Amino acid sequence: MSSTDTNTEHPIDMRISAVPDRNGRYGECGGVYVPETLIEALQQLDEVYQKVCNDHHFWERLGDLNRVYVGRTTPLYQANGLTWRSRSLNEDKELGATIWLKREDLAHTGAHKINNTLGQAMIAKKMGKNRVIAETGAGQHGVATATAAAYFGLKCDVYMGSEDIRRQNLNVTRMKMLGANVIPVEDGSKTLKDATNEALRDWMGSVEHTHYILGSVVGPHPFPMIVRDFQSVIGRETKAQALRHISAMPNTIVACVGGGSNAAGMFYPFVDESDVRLIGVEAGGRSDTPGDHAAPLTYGKLGVLHGSMSYVLQDESGQTSPVHSCSAGLDYPGVGPEHSYWKDSGRVEYTTVSDEEALEAFIWTARDEGIIPALESSHAVAKAVPIAAEMHKDEHLIVNLSGRGDKDVEEVARLLGDKL
Ligand SMILES: *Cc1c(COP(=O)(O)O)cnc(C)c1O
Repeated sequence: MSSTDTNTEHPIDMRISAVPDRNGRYGECGGVYVPETLIEALQQLDEVYQKVCNDHHFWERLGDLNRVYVGRTTPLYQANGLTWRSRSLNEDKELGATIWLKREDLAHTGAHKINNTLGQAMIAKKMGKNRVIAETGAGQHGVATATAAAYFGLKCDVYMGSEDIRRQNLNVTRMKMLGANVIPVEDGSKTLKDATNEALRDWMGSVEHTHYILGSVVGPHPFPMIVRDFQSVIGRETKAQALRHISAMPNTIVACVGGGSNAAGMFYPFVDESDVRLIGVEAGGRSDTPGDHAAPLTYGKLGVLHGSMSYVLQDESGQTSPVHSCSAGLDYPGVGPEHSYWKDSGRVEYTTVSDEEALEAFIWTARDEGIIPALESSHAVAKAVPIAAEMHKDEHLIVNLSGRGDKDVEEVARLLGDKL
């Protein structure tokens, strides 16, 4: 396939990577670490997905839905305000790359999550399953799953920690309006990790008629691969748009990393373009003390969490550490196995941004561009601006703006107080 091809629907033509192997391994990472009762369901999912991969009707149908329902193609937008801000950090007139935003905030439901949930809901239909379940933290994946379930007429139960239910009331109400049932989880820290445990437990007893729509590139094989493939529409569109707007590949791409799905979807089609610098930004939180951040690629060790091997934040005895980020979507102690693989191979650089820096970038984006970004995406903007300042003026940097910030306005107002 030539790099000028603009077919953005079918990921199989883009299967350029050697990973995962047939056992779902990304080097040492990935794999399937689940109880016996789930092995068969995962094998069935793997088989169905292999068939889907060769089914052009499936990808055409999904491409149509992406256009008429999600509002894709999302724009690649030249961010002159942020570019100006970045250039003003530097005296040297030869420096300061042009900054572009890939506008996933404009996708239906307000973030990239819908790219994955529609695809997986179509797979659930194909498998003859009439119920879907999901885990959710901030509620964005819950809302996107409830939306896909409403569209396809599927019954939908969403597991959510009771602490998150309290913090994210707007999204809880949205899910209920969409016809989903929100099930509170009272275990552990009552947040995303605990909701994921509970969703896996449900699935063990319900696999016959239920599909589990996992929300990021995490979990046992084949989930990390499936979610990456559905999200890679972001990177495929971006590649075609870059060729149209700048007649070249971008020099640098920056994306935030929670579980890692928006970053994987953006990076994957560029992995073989070795001249393109890829940078993933984790949640640096309040400090580098354990419990104060959510940055497993920066501070974690290899371990098993939620069915796969990857970098995990853990203490000496292997217990999963508590996490903190101002952004609920990044507040997770694990990360997808492909990111661990990209880190170890050196293909992608990973770094952190603190709560404070992310808040500052939230306000930059609002005031310089008239775009209120998600706090998650603000982490990517916070890193992109100083990096662009050190690049040459002819160069181009793309930020994946993974979502919009309506859900965060109250929290940001609270955190900024008088400074707003
Ligand atoms: C959920 C979410 C994230 C983090 O999840 P990834 O799987 O790492 O992409 C980032 N941005 C937004 C807007 C989200 O809703």
